[in-house]
Amino acid sequence: MKIIVLRIGHRKKRDIRVTTHCCLVARAFLADEMVLSGEEDLGILETVRKVAKNWGGKFRISYEANFHRFLKERKLRGWKICHLTMYGELLKGKIDQIRQDAKKGLVVVIGAEKVPAEVYSLADYNIAVTSQPHSEVAALGVFLNELNGGVALKPEAQRNFTKAKLIIEPGLKARKIRREK
Ligand code: SAM
Repeated sequence: MKIIVLRIGHRKKRDIRVTTHCCLVARAFLADEMVLSGEEDLGILETVRKVAKNWGGKFRISYEANFHRFLKERKLRGWKICHLTMYGELLKGKIDQIRQDAKKGLVVVIGAEKVPAEVYSLADYNIAVTSQPHSEVAALGVFLNELNGGVALKPEAQRNFTKAKLIIEPGLKARKIRREK
């Protein structure tokens, strides 16, 4: 299943760290692509592309001014849309169904500022990662981990990060990074 994470409502000044962290979480937890919407922010695109180049894999990132159009196009192509919101249905009861329904692909939508009402109706699922307010970074990490059945936490998952220039050798007490040419 292809997974795209769509971050809507990005505010250049306020959200730079959180949006960057969402991109890094999306990549580490094996999403294929990130699409940013809201204020255009070339700095984040550049930072994330640099991370992907150094740490490997095929993760892509792009900017989309009109996220409504983007979502409608994906729906026409048979993709499913899952919006993460604390007001939604609890993840545990829905994740198996989402995995089954979204064979063609899944767009995972995360908000920043107040999410427009249309997103709730465009989405095939509005999913809560607990019914408590917290953060899009945490919601995304937990959601992707459940969606992928925990594979990103296994050592084999590192094989997804092909052509990495930097590879961590997990250790007990020291920081060890292997540098590939
Ligand atoms: N006040 C905003 C609203 O009305 O939607 C939410 C702001 S919250 C800081 C930013 C984003 O974090 C939300 O749009 C949602 O994607 C995500 N989020 C926060 N808590 C969540 C939860 N319990 N479950 C799922 N997503 C959550």
